Amino acid sequence: MRTIKIGSYRNTIAGLALALLSVGLVGAQTVITPSKNKYTPAQDVELGRQAAAEVEQQLPILRDGDVTSSVGAIGRRLVDVIPPELRHPEFRYSFQVVNVREINAFALPGGPMYLNRGMIQRAHTEGEAASVMAHEMSHVALRHGTAQATKATKYELGTLAGAVLGAIIGGRVGSAVSQGTEFGLGTAFLRFSREFEREADLLGSQIMARAGYDPREMANMFRTIEKERGSGVPQWLSAHPNPGHRYDYIMREAQMLQVQNPVRDTRAFEQMQARLNQMAPAPTTEEATRSKAGRGTSRSPEDRPELGPPGSVAPPSSRDTTYTEGNLFRVSVPSNWRELPGTNAVTFAPEGAYGTEGGQSVFTHGVQIGVARNETHDLRTATDEFVDSLAGGNPNLSRPSGYDRTSIGGRNGLHAALSNVSDATGQQERIEVFTILLRDGSLFYVLGVAPRDRASDYQKTFRRVVGSIRIIE
Ligand SMILES: [Zn+2]
Repeated sequence: MRTIKIGSYRNTIAGLALALLSVGLVGAQTVITPSKNKYTPAQDVELGRQAAAEVEQQLPILRDGDVTSSVGAIGRRLVDVIPPELRHPEFRYSFQVVNVREINAFALPGGPMYLNRGMIQRAHTEGEAASVMAHEMSHVALRHGTAQATKATKYELGTLAGAVLGAIIGGRVGSAVSQGTEFGLGTAFLRFSREFEREADLLGSQIMARAGYDPREMANMFRTIEKERGSGVPQWLSAHPNPGHRYDYIMREAQMLQVQNPVRDTRAFEQMQARLNQMAPAPTTEEATRSKAGRGTSRSPEDRPELGPPGSVAPPSSRDTTYTEGNLFRVSVPSNWRELPGTNAVTFAPEGAYGTEGGQSVFTHGVQIGVARNETHDLRTATDEFVDSLAGGNPNLSRPSGYDRTSIGGRNGLHAALSNVSDATGQQERIEVFTILLRDGSLFYVLGVAPRDRASDYQKTFRRVVGSIRIIE
């Protein structure tokens, strides 16, 4: 991996001089201050390092010297103008291209950044590609991943790196269910709050201007990304939700910024794009991760060693066992279901109905109960976003045409039934979603999963489980 050193004294002093200069010139740019964070910068680095190792095993990194050095040059230009107060000497920004088609990019705590080949190819200009990098870099510099985890105080954070990966691979590629217990944490790390999105947009605009790029290119790039909406929410937007009026506030910020030493020679970028265009078309992320796991598209019994053969799963017991989960809720589930604790979620499933598939936790029968962060404080919107996040990259998951009213623990909630093709069995399954809002605005959800031919039996069990839930908060 390319590693770029930052935070030298020379850079810091140069950065400070630039910062003073820009205050003198414009004065009115939005001031962004980092949020509370109980982790140390060294922990950011460690989390990012672990996740990067897994990412590079799972995703096809494009090993092309010309492409990597061209992207690295843009990255270094941006890193050099990160405001001095947001530099962490431990951080190492690095830039890799992932050989997949979708417009997407993500950065891990401490600095490793991954840019999809599709994003670079679809950018109209170097500035547009730089804008995505400046936005991602701002999340890293502001330490948004661990700042969000800091807010998720109620829940054990478990293995953070695995969760980050769950969000990248599971959340976008796998089925709703394989996203599994890692959903909540993935949320904490890679699905940013609207507040943090706005901060990354604004700081990213400021970094762009100081690096010689017109920040209005960021607004344009987001329009390009929005146009991806043909097949549901584009990957990038599912991790970086639009805080609202994104285009307008970036354009307003841009008016307050002066582009310093504008980048005029973009031939290297254009040559790199031409080089990418000449290569064989990039696969989708799903195709790439499947072939990387050596599984092809057909499924054989060897693919699911821990899951029992179809039909071997015992029906739900009519007797219940009651569990108390942290200081949040109590629930009663059929006594022949096992408790599979996760991070921000817990799964209850019978023997033979859970296991791993391509490194992801999956279950074919049972319920998952968890908490997902959201910023809307509006149950309908939060539920829509939750379903979107389940469906991200999974064309087999149906979207609900509407919701029924339900209640959990005496609170008004929503319910919908979705159909899906199980990642584990390749068979049709039904997923029932129940949601309510918690007092802090988080979304509390229950997912009931069963094969379609058993769905009506399980429907009663899911209702019984949901009916037993008592919220303690
Ligand atoms: Zn973002």
